[in-house]
Amino acid sequence: MAKNKSILSEARQIERAVTLIGLGARMQVLERETDLSYERLLRLYKEVSGQSPSKGQLPFSTDWFMTWQPNIHASLFLNIHEYLNKSAALDEGDLIIKAYQLYLEHTTTQALEPLLSITRAWRLVKFLDTGMLTMTRCSGCGGHFVTHPHEIAKHYVCGLCNPPARAGKGKSAGGLTMQ
Ligand SMILES: [Zn+2]
Repeated sequence: MAKNKSILSEARQIERAVTLIGLGARMQVLERETDLSYERLLRLYKEVSGQSPSKGQLPFSTDWFMTWQPNIHASLFLNIHEYLNKSAALDEGDLIIKAYQLYLEHTTTQALEPLLSITRAWRLVKFLDTGMLTMTRCSGCGGHFVTHPHEIAKHYVCGLCNPPARAGKGKSAGGLTMQ
């Protein structure tokens, strides 16, 4: 029985790794979200994507999430993530995958380039877990957006309500809207 269980568990781990690779995740994400060895992940990666994984560190800074369009995409992803977290019984790895797939669907139906990669989405969730980033309600539209902690909610205005001047009227984040 224990053996069967471990085979099933391993099958699930492989399935998760394959899904993540298909979404373009970096090796660091696969290592953190599965129990598979680095060697097995590397083989899977090459088999699924047909190439070697890119080397190098993950982006460590929170700055990217604070720039205008990325912030709106990151906020959209996190709103989906929060919604799923409340409504579906998924563990954290599956939650990120499902939320990211829904984010991709959303950008596809709106004919937008998905600015947020799966690796950045994963990093974003970790930044929230460790309190380096948070969600703040916009005083203009009432939507929830990614901000640094300690943002004064009373005065916070999001990038959709207050796009930078260079964005031009009616082109807010390429048509992305927040429900
Ligand atoms: Zn707003």
